[in-house]
Order: sequence, then C-alpha cells, then structure tokens
Amino acid sequence: MKTKITHSEKVAATFIKNGKLVGFPTETVYGLGANVFDEDAVKKIFKIKNRPADNPLIVHISDVSQINLLIQKMTPIAKKIIENFFPGPITIILKKNLIISDLVTAGLDTIAIRMPSDISTRKFIEYCGTPVAAPSANISGSPSPTSWKHVNADLNGKVDCILWGKNSEHGIESTVVDCTGKFPKILRPGSVSIKDLEKIFSKVEMEKIPKNGIAKSPGMKYKHYSPEAEIILVKSPSEIPLESISTTKIGFIGFEIVRRIAKSKRVSTKENYAKHLFDFFRKCDEIGIEKIYCQKVDMEGIGLALMNRLSKAAGKN
Ligand code: AMP
Ligand code: MG
Repeated sequence: MKTKITHSEKVAATFIKNGKLVGFPTETVYGLGANVFDEDAVKKIFKIKNRPADNPLIVHISDVSQINLLIQKMTPIAKKIIENFFPGPITIILKKNLIISDLVTAGLDTIAIRMPSDISTRKFIEYCGTPVAAPSANISGSPSPTSWKHVNADLNGKVDCILWGKNSEHGIESTVVDCTGKFPKILRPGSVSIKDLEKIFSKVEMEKIPKNGIAKSPGMKYKHYSPEAEIILVKSPSEIPLESISTTKIGFIGFEIVRRIAKSKRVSTKENYAKHLFDFFRKCDEIGIEKIYCQKVDMEGIGLALMNRLSKAAGKN
C-alpha cells in the first residue's frame, strides 16, 4: 500500500469517508483514525497496530454536539469537565449509546470521548463528518508518536494516509476520567492534573490498578511506551553506575538535557520533559542505545503522568 502524506485536512478526511485509516496530529500524541460507525475500518486499526482487542479506543469529536451520537446520558460530572476543559487533553468516559460497535469499546458498556484543542485536528474531524475513533498511531507497545515522522516510521505502507502536522504540544496521552460515578475518577493520568480537576470538583478519585485484578481502563494493564532499550529510573545522573558507562551504550534524559533539546535558556519544566520524552526514546533506538537512564520527577501536576509513563516504560507497573 502506498501511504499518502498530505497537508490538507480535506484530502485526509476523504480517506476516512471511504472507510480508510488516517494518521493525524493532535496536541497529545498522533492518532490513527477511522470512522467510528464503520466496523470494518475500526477492525483495521486493531490489526495494523497489533492492538489487543480488549483495549478500547478513544472517540474524537470536533464539536460538543456530536457527543449525543455516542452516549446514552450526559452526567453532571461530564458536563462540568466539558465546560471547563474541552477542547483539550482530557477524555471523558460515559455510558455508551447502543449503536456503537463493541469493537470500539472492547465490549465495555462505556465509551471514551475527547475533543482535541489542535485546530487542524478539529478541522480534519469536521471534514470527516463523523466522530473518529483513534488510538495512538504507533505499533502497540512502542513509544507513542509525537511527530508525523514517528507515524511514518511505524506505519508507512500500512496506513492509507498521514495528515502532516506539527510536533505534538503535550507529548503524552490525555487524562482519562470516568464520569459515570458519584465523583470523577482518573483512570489514566495526563496533562490535566488532579489539581486542575480539584479546582472544580470537591473530590477527585484516582483509580488504583489492582495487582492481579482487572484494570478499569484496560489499556493501563499493558507494558507500554517502551523503546527497545532498557529503561532505568534514577534521581540524578550521579546514580548511573560507572561500569555501565564503560561497557554499554547508554542514554540519559533529565531536566538539563531537555532544556538543551528545547534550546531553552530557562530551567526546564516537567511539561518540556513530557513533550520530548517519546521522541528521545525513539532516537535512542535508532542509534542502538542499550540502556536509557531517566531522571525521576516529583508527582505534582503533570509529574504524576510523566512518572506513570516512565515507570511503565521501565516495566515497573
Ligand atoms: P490510547 O488510544 O492508546 O491513548 O489508549 C486509550 C486509553 O483509553 C486506553 O488506556 C484505554 O483503556 C482507555 N479507554 C478507552 N475507552 C475506555 C472505556 N470505555 N473505559 C475505560 N477506559 C477506556
Ligand atoms: Mg497508545
């Protein structure tokens, strides 16, 4: 298959309308999209990504009015999140409308919905004329793609079209919030932090993944976000063992490195670290790095999401 790479949201949308798949930019990471109402197209997403069938997809919308096509009932919690954070890097979980295929939701009775803030993404979805089901546009298990080049590296020849876009602004996946209970419950941490949610809710719950139990957000149980290299978390570069430096090809990512990658004069932020992490992992793989030492961060704000991705990449949970 020849993959069409286009700058035009309109051209990319014609592929979706014809039952094909498109890799497209969003502010979190790049997505691999299909028409949510086209079962055959949705099936292809799982096949191409090698994604386990029990890992449901997030449905992307360009306008809040499209939510009614996807759900049974709006909840006060979801309404508040929509008012305060849509469009943005946050996904809401609601009871699904029965017309939605079980393939999209992996047999769950709930559906995940997000409205991206990236203007080009919304334009693309609008031209599609339908909500777009889309997981991240990578082969399952590898680091999520944060540039069109990453999508091209993983999916060229497998996907019908890639919509060109800028590098993803956030660089890590959305915050997933279950809105079906009494309080909002974070199933996956992301750029929208607990603190951000606590500004508008009296209580915010955090889903703990049971050791041998079933995760409520099925994707959280898989090893994820991993490069080929082994990931080791350290407080500072001084923890890197000397033997390792002399005997293996090693990489290190931390605040000072990220500051230099971002060509910034200011002290680097966790936001910057998150933005560059997956690209760094991919670059290390390209040049055959064997071990990547990653500086740990505190759990404040986006730190929780960043540590979640780092620990998963290290295979720690
Ligand atoms: P990705 O598309 O790779 O960012 O993964 C989407 C994430 O959303 C995964 O962790 C899924 O398990 C989660 N997700 C999607 N739909 C649901 C749902 N109905 N209930 C809970 N989690 C969901
Ligand atoms: Mg993913």
